[in-house]
Amino acid sequence: PVRVRMAPSPTGSPHVGLVRTALYNWAFARHHGGTFVLRIEDTDKERSTEESYRGILELLSWLGLTWDEGVEVGGPYGPYRQSERTELYRDVLAKLAASSYTYDCFCTNDEVEARRKESGSKVVGYDGFCRELSADQRAAFEAEGRTSVVRFRMPDGSITWNDLVRGEVTFETQYVPDYALCRANGDPLYTLTAPVDDATMHITHVLRGEDLLSSTPRQIALFDAMREIGIAEETPQFGHLPYVMGQGNKKLSKRDPEANALSYRDQGYLPEGLLNYMALLGWSIAADRDVFTTEEMVAAFDIADVNPNPARFDLKKCDAINASHMRLLPVEEIQHRVLPFLQAAGVVSDPISDADAQLLELAMPLVAERINKLAEAPDMLGFLFVEEAAFARDEADVEKLLDDAGREIVAASLAALEPLESWSTAAIQDALNAELIERRELKPRVAFGPVRVAVTGRRISPPLFESMELLGRDRSLARLRSAVG
Ligand code: GLU
Repeated sequence: PVRVRMAPSPTGSPHVGLVRTALYNWAFARHHGGTFVLRIEDTDKERSTEESYRGILELLSWLGLTWDEGVEVGGPYGPYRQSERTELYRDVLAKLAASSYTYDCFCTNDEVEARRKESGSKVVGYDGFCRELSADQRAAFEAEGRTSVVRFRMPDGSITWNDLVRGEVTFETQYVPDYALCRANGDPLYTLTAPVDDATMHITHVLRGEDLLSSTPRQIALFDAMREIGIAEETPQFGHLPYVMGQGNKKLSKRDPEANALSYRDQGYLPEGLLNYMALLGWSIAADRDVFTTEEMVAAFDIADVNPNPARFDLKKCDAINASHMRLLPVEEIQHRVLPFLQAAGVVSDPISDADAQLLELAMPLVAERINKLAEAPDMLGFLFVEEAAFARDEADVEKLLDDAGREIVAASLAALEPLESWSTAAIQDALNAELIERRELKPRVAFGPVRVAVTGRRISPPLFESMELLGRDRSLARLRSAVG
């Protein structure tokens, strides 16, 4: 059975690359009826934070990338936080040492670097100096008060695997130096913990970012050793997902604002929109098709179809995909999802009053087609819900559209609307058309811009006549009056 894992390090706010890795693992697991495991790699005590851990959980929950096993939900191979698995790592270290797969290394970085310069070697990393220390040399180092780290003895020759994304990959181990498995104080490092957990959690496929490609020969060698001493059963298959490039063809870094995954939730992207876009960073469902649901992705996903070339992150495309998913949602669903944004912006109360709920239901069909992200709703709808005394217009829009000519148009509109008997969309439209378009021969854009800013406070709003009907006669006329000055 397929078992995959997402193994984030809880440092900083979660990166969009994490979304793509999680999605591909999740879709792979779902496609194969397998298990998706969430493990937290928090062995770096200085950099790991509880806040970052919470952020990862919130992100995956918001996206609906549910995990079958792991932190919070448990499972047969827990605990799933590496900080709670220290004993296991120490045990594995002891077993590896007992079979001479590792050795204690007393060298300092400076010594290693000095030897490298002297020999002129181009291989960066450890030179194996402590591989075969005699008992006397060892005793001498200890007498000097030196501390030691545990290094894995890389085998000679080469290591080849059939990467699920990139095909055959080979590393000559002369370029993969012996590496440390723990710090001098005994704290285990990622180099040890990830393969030990992949082994003990029976992970069958490791799908992760290309930045970890160079760890793979080390991990495969460690798996070989762990299989020999009965800690691992099988070495998983590896697949390395392409880099995600941002502006200027540089890797999207943690510092890029669009790299912060939770900011998409806060800006009101739909989880299904973001997932769809993230899916496209290395995979596509069909040559001529960009928009699909997560269910469709699960049905079609094949890791062999992932493109190994770097993927370009394009925020405009992400927005367009999100907008397409907005159009797919029924109005009631958009209303439901928009509500927390309206509440957070103070447009309506929490819980929403009955009167506001009714108004929202009437207004929603007018805006549902016009917003591309949920967080655009408060600006669009605020004018309908605001207390009259607190109504304010966008200053830049006022400056542009409520100049002398604009105010004259508003005054004319006021005169045309005041005598209306029925305050309906059709009546409002007829009256304004007759006055502004027919009699004054204005272009619609010129005619209705000032009226729109007067009534809604902004140049961009739901349709004007409908908005005025919803706002009601008294409030509409009062706003036209106050705009005239
Ligand atoms: N914890 C590693 C990271 O956040 C991922 C480890 C892995 O997938 O092997 O980059």
